[in-house]
Amino acid sequence: MTAKVLNNILVKPAGPDCNLDCLYCFYKNKPELFPETGRPRMSEFLLEVMIRQIVEPPGGEVSIGWQGGEPTLMGLPFYRKAVELEERFGAGKIVGNGLQTNGLLIDRQWARFFREFRFLIGLSIDGPEHVQFLHPGRVKLVFWVPEMTSAET
Ligand code: SF4
Repeated sequence: MTAKVLNNILVKPAGPDCNLDCLYCFYKNKPELFPETGRPRMSEFLLEVMIRQIVEPPGGEVSIGWQGGEPTLMGLPFYRKAVELEERFGAGKIVGNGLQTNGLLIDRQWARFFREFRFLIGLSIDGPEHVQFLHPGRVKLVFWVPEMTSAET
């Protein structure tokens, strides 16, 4: 058997932790997986080891999907470090980043960062009643950040 190189990686750096508490959340009971802490957070050491393992193997492209819970709970410096490590260990490889968020913490600093590093953003929101009725759960919007920041002054 020939091993296939993984080029799409899903990472949950804050585990199931979230700053919302949606009734329908499928992740509700997952904190029980982390009985020692209610706030699981990926360490900088683990981030470096992980990024290195993802981007160093040969291959043209790799993409990392940052999800949760709510991945922005890690804070912006965590993602600045992540892209720095991607550039350091990627040696010219194309590394794409996507992030799924509920948007609560997103401000202009985050938006500028997402735009600068071309993050693909998925924004989950509760829609108006008629949309929610058709699609129970959260409505997901996916877009590139330049659109999100085009109204920036
Ligand atoms: S925003 Fe998402 S992860 Fe957070 S509680 Fe709601 S459904 Fe769960």
